[in-house]
Amino acid sequence: MREIAVSEITRNIREMCIEANHFLGRDVKNALDDGEKKEESPLGKQILGTLEENLGIAGRDMIPICQDTGMAVIFLNIGQDVHFTGGDLYDAVNEGVREGYRDGYLRKSVVGDPIIRMNTRDNTPAVIHCEIVPGDQVEITVAPKGFGSENTSRIFMLKPADGLDGVRKAILAAVRDAGPNACPPMIVGVGIGGDFEKCAEMAKHALTRDLDEEPEVSWVRDLKREMLEKINQLGIGPAGLGGRVTCLGINIETYPTHIAGLPLAVNICCHVNRHTRRTI
Ligand code: SF4
Repeated sequence: MREIAVSEITRNIREMCIEANHFLGRDVKNALDDGEKKEESPLGKQILGTLEENLGIAGRDMIPICQDTGMAVIFLNIGQDVHFTGGDLYDAVNEGVREGYRDGYLRKSVVGDPIIRMNTRDNTPAVIHCEIVPGDQVEITVAPKGFGSENTSRIFMLKPADGLDGVRKAILAAVRDAGPNACPPMIVGVGIGGDFEKCAEMAKHALTRDLDEEPEVSWVRDLKREMLEKINQLGIGPAGLGGRVTCLGINIETYPTHIAGLPLAVNICCHVNRHTRRTI
């Protein structure tokens, strides 16, 4: 049994909230670069260039990539041989978010009650997903999520007879309806299978995967390739002002499901697809 003080979790999450809001992964930067080369619309090309410039300034001058610094989504993969000491794990996660958003001068975007809507003033609570895995390490993923794109995300409880074609149509409908509101170019996370909440969690988690990742299952690999192509034929383009580069990448997660259903979630993220990962 390995003991980990919860203060370690707080310290890492504090740093990761700041890091995620100022730097994007190499995969997203490469996709923006490629997109700028591919974009045929002069305005679209200019917008992609501006997004890249903005990204450079964010990292250099430590100004957040976007004013919406997101609701903090935290994935914890906890080794079953880990024993946390020194306090409550969820309190430690929220303390890390609190300190990170305070010390990084990040916008506090969380309201404590969804109807009364008083800002909690420290960006807590985070949305926390925990999974127990083998081993004695903890993998932490911090993914601040902007709500311009989150608001355009969808769940479809398809019927088994809808099949792969139904899945294709639903993904395209979600992206088409999102249009400019998702601050394109977007990144699309898809969860297929499980049940109502499992497919949503998979779609969110899919956004934290490397854009270049090749799925092992052949139909998933083909669907990933096909949907990227089809989405980029919709003509939404950078900032929704027309063009070919509507989507920078798509990742798909799957899970077994019930004989009577085909749940599908499409979690849409803007180009500011923030996530950072550490293992302690
Ligand atoms: S959707 Fe993304 S780019 Fe648009 S405001 Fe929110 S975080 Fe910023």
